[in-house]
Amino acid sequence: MQIASKACTKCGAEKELTFFDKKKGSSDGRRSRCKTCRAILRQVPGNKKRMQKWKKRYYEKHKIGLAEVSKTYRCANKEKLAEKAKMYYSANKEAICKNVAKWKKENPKKASAATRRYRHAHLELERKRSRDYAKEHRIEYAMRLREWRKSNPVKYKNSNLKNNDRRTKMLYDGYVKGVLCCDSILEPSDIPVELIVVKREQMRLHRELKKQAS
Ligand SMILES: [Zn+2]
Repeated sequence: MQIASKACTKCGAEKELTFFDKKKGSSDGRRSRCKTCRAILRQVPGNKKRMQKWKKRYYEKHKIGLAEVSKTYRCANKEKLAEKAKMYYSANKEAICKNVAKWKKENPKKASAATRRYRHAHLELERKRSRDYAKEHRIEYAMRLREWRKSNPVKYKNSNLKNNDRRTKMLYDGYVKGVLCCDSILEPSDIPVELIVVKREQMRLHRELKKQAS
């Protein structure tokens, strides 16, 4: 089979058709100047500027249509695009992570707001994911935690205090259970969820009143 080719009108070299950009309406569906020649022409300062201006004008003029086209394309090729993005990510993981880390460092407020927004929007998913992950890596987790505690006794103590503070402040189930069991014959396993809910509400009200009184 013979591969179609033609001579570039600029450099005169005989090249395969794939070396010429496509152009609708031309006799062979291709431009007359080869890609290399066109690339060189684009680099000429005046041309580059003219091209940018033209592109900008074109974009402004067709903004709505272009957005529509790209939206339709994205919708129709969701899976393909996701796969592509995944492949790109795994091939450039290190560079991407580095860039993200750099951006986070430079924009700490924006970064934490973005994380918060994401977590809020994917609350259940995030919880499930971390639960599943913890379940899958239970032994590994426990071992790592033990190692960490051993090598960071002070940090461990502080983090425990902080966690206890949070448990108390947020009235977590465990904390409310503890309050209910304290000075009573109840065992934590005896306490139904409804009781925890009621007790929590009572404690919250009590705190509120105390705060207003002081
Ligand atoms: Zn050429």
